[in-house]
Amino acid sequence: MLIRNVDLKGTIVDVFITQGIIRDIGPNLKYDDKIFLEGAGGALLPGLHDHHIHLNASAAAMNSLSCGPPDIVNKTALINTLHAAQSDFIRGVGYHPSVAGEIDRMWLDDNGPKKPIRIQHRSGRLWILNSLAMQANGLIVPANGRLLDSDSDIRGASQFPDLKPLINRLLGYGITGVTEVTPSNGAEELAHYLKHAQPLRLCIMGKADLSNLNDPHIGPLKLHYHDHNLPALDDLAAEIKAAHKAGRNMAAHCVTRAELMLTLAAIEQAGVMAGDRIEHAAIADDATIDWMKRLGVIVVTQPNFIAERVKAYRKDVPLKEHGNLWRLKAFETAGLPMAAGSDAPFGDANPWAAMAAAVTRPSGFEAEAVSPETALALYTKPCHDAGAPARRVEVEAIADLCLIDRPWAEARMNLGDVKVKATWVGGSLVYNGVNEAPV
Ligand SMILES: [Zn+2]
Repeated sequence: MLIRNVDLKGTIVDVFITQGIIRDIGPNLKYDDKIFLEGAGGALLPGLHDHHIHLNASAAAMNSLSCGPPDIVNKTALINTLHAAQSDFIRGVGYHPSVAGEIDRMWLDDNGPKKPIRIQHRSGRLWILNSLAMQANGLIVPANGRLLDSDSDIRGASQFPDLKPLINRLLGYGITGVTEVTPSNGAEELAHYLKHAQPLRLCIMGKADLSNLNDPHIGPLKLHYHDHNLPALDDLAAEIKAAHKAGRNMAAHCVTRAELMLTLAAIEQAGVMAGDRIEHAAIADDATIDWMKRLGVIVVTQPNFIAERVKAYRKDVPLKEHGNLWRLKAFETAGLPMAAGSDAPFGDANPWAAMAAAVTRPSGFEAEAVSPETALALYTKPCHDAGAPARRVEVEAIADLCLIDRPWAEARMNLGDVKVKATWVGGSLVYNGVNEAPV
């Protein structure tokens, strides 16, 4: 494929890709390739990587349609929302009879799209299924499709959510890979992601059990302790040591000072392995940054949270701690290897909003702002090494790319406004917002 007229470091060039690799970059390239895409002067960037996301939880949140007040208040609105749903299996929540009465299987068959549909009553006690959902679930459901007090049966019958709408959304942001960080991930989850999160590049963290599986997608052991259940220092150090012995890094959830202090002490005791990660590091003073630097850990932060949660921070976090919240500039200045991820569904999955939030922080928190180039670099680290330098668009690089709707010089002024026009994973065009049909 030839990508024509893209902005690369301020120059308009063509980029030629074969077999998943960038082979040539230059002005007015001449290749007999019939397959091309017009870049129209937009910047061609490395594909983005979300270094901290929960796929199943994000998909479940996204796949649940609100079917009741205040979003949906009448029959027409409910019918429209059911038909607009992208998911192959519709899961509605929050239904109330004030919308369209005591609906049942027949009502859904007559009024909904021809897909399996199940809608939960606002009380949480009642599910209403259409005929396709009744067949798909293999549950014994009354003929009217109204299933009372059987929530755990329903959950058991469809353990994992449909990832497709989420994956499509991520590709539309220019995301070409993700690091899935859910602590409970085991062999079943791994198989589910490998099958259903294509074409994204995947790094899958999770339980200690994963250490025994020989799969290149497996990432660090995820440690997830909170202030109320912190383990003893020796136990935590032993857990870290065991992961290292299995050739595996660790990644520890650290949002409070106590969580971070204990984790750093445990790493110090166990010994650090290059690639060990601190997730969030939501609160870190200068002495702690020095400690992290001395140990050589990677910080994986969420630049979006300071913008999304600023009201709560102003209210709940003492003023003298504000300077230690969700730091970026201080980590950068200290030379700590750093990457970023959304923490979706707890944060917004849109990396452009997060990059914008890293550059323009809310008032009172500006001291930790970074440049647009640093913000972009946080989302363009290699899939399996969040501490490495950012990937680049260059000859011989793997063609994981995104094309945006404007030159970089313009984009950097307002990253939150950027729209992605096309996304490639391994040279395959996986999102095309330029043309309706693939070129
Ligand atoms: Zn998380």
